[in-house]
Amino acid sequence: MKTKDLLAISEEFGTPVYVYDAEKIESQYKKLTSAFKGVKQLKINYAVKALSNISILKLFKQLNSGLDTVSIQEVQLGLAAGFQAEDIIYTPNGVSLKEIENVAALGCQINIDNLSILEQFGTKHPGVPVCIRINPHVMAGGNANISVGHIDSKFGISIHQIPHILRIVENTGMHINGIHMHTGSDILDVDVFLYASEILFKAALQFSNLEFIDFGSGFKVPYRAHDVETDIIELGRKLTKRFNAFEKEYGKPLTLAFEPGKYLVSEAGNFLVNVNVVKQTTSTVFASVDSGFNHLIRPMLYNSHHNIVNISNEIGRERFYTVVGYICETDTFATNRRISEISEGDILCFKNAGAYCFSMASNYNSRYRPAEVLWYEGKAHLIRKRETLDNLLEHQVIIDLKQKAVIEN
Ligand SMILES: *Cc1c(COP(=O)(O)O)cnc(C)c1O
Repeated sequence: MKTKDLLAISEEFGTPVYVYDAEKIESQYKKLTSAFKGVKQLKINYAVKALSNISILKLFKQLNSGLDTVSIQEVQLGLAAGFQAEDIIYTPNGVSLKEIENVAALGCQINIDNLSILEQFGTKHPGVPVCIRINPHVMAGGNANISVGHIDSKFGISIHQIPHILRIVENTGMHINGIHMHTGSDILDVDVFLYASEILFKAALQFSNLEFIDFGSGFKVPYRAHDVETDIIELGRKLTKRFNAFEKEYGKPLTLAFEPGKYLVSEAGNFLVNVNVVKQTTSTVFASVDSGFNHLIRPMLYNSHHNIVNISNEIGRERFYTVVGYICETDTFATNRRISEISEGDILCFKNAGAYCFSMASNYNSRYRPAEVLWYEGKAHLIRKRETLDNLLEHQVIIDLKQKAVIEN
């Protein structure tokens, strides 16, 4: 997308506004599938929680993707977008047996990540095929918040509990048709990924009726100029070779599945905000924008870096700014950031605003959640209206509080 297109969108739809470039989503999807073109059966299930707008889901449907979901509501959004139930995998954590049964009744692939539910579900529904989520205990990166494969993680059934899984499977007669891992949001190193895959292959040999092996996600995309991106080509080359060899060893055809979120949508997103105030203090220059962690929480929640470009003055002299929101609470997007000179009324663009940005937005400070626009085939399409006061009041029940004339004491 060109700067002039982004500026035109900010004028037409106002700010703050999320803008997604469909072409970038498509090219990421194709990069991934072509890296694994040597696998006979490949299934990409887009992780809905990264960006769950129904028009985005439809775009993935058009690309032939499936969906990875973590709640029955995401499943229902997927069905509303036109996906078949069998193209949806449901990988929840800590949800009730009842919800899992309801999703199974819709016909989606169930993925179970604890022994208690596995035993209860298998006892009641031995005929429903189930995938199991294994925790291979592989550390991915250093941040414990985003490394979900390690020993203290709440996700998955420990690889050391395979004997217990096998006993449940034998006792219930249930059908395990898939085995899964998702080792975290930021696996940088292809070799770490392959190491975890070996653990999964070894576990897979314990189950005789598998139809697929799901390697989850963990692909890294660059957020900063010098960030390293997961080398998809190298991963494709190495894992394809290993997977095809494993399939021979296993003796039955297997599907290789992935469920990326960030890799597919992060870089496609631009978040446009207006600069309300430029404020000089004794220590810094603040640029205050018409948004906050209510719309983009990643910097405050994960200390994430989003590049910020002043698209109203791209080639201006660079100065140092602290970019903050308008929330009445510390609300810092970026500290001491070099940005080309900012004037009040300029439009700033946050990069990598596709994944875990709008989907984590809230109404804190009673602000409206932003509009969303899809840039598709050279045209801007509004895919979510900006909220209004009616949305804030929609579910509130206004009761009639009697006003007492005299305060008793
Ligand atoms: C969140 C999630 C994903 C997607 O992770 P990304 O880092 O966005 O690719 C995949 N699988 C499961 C089970 C998840 O919870």
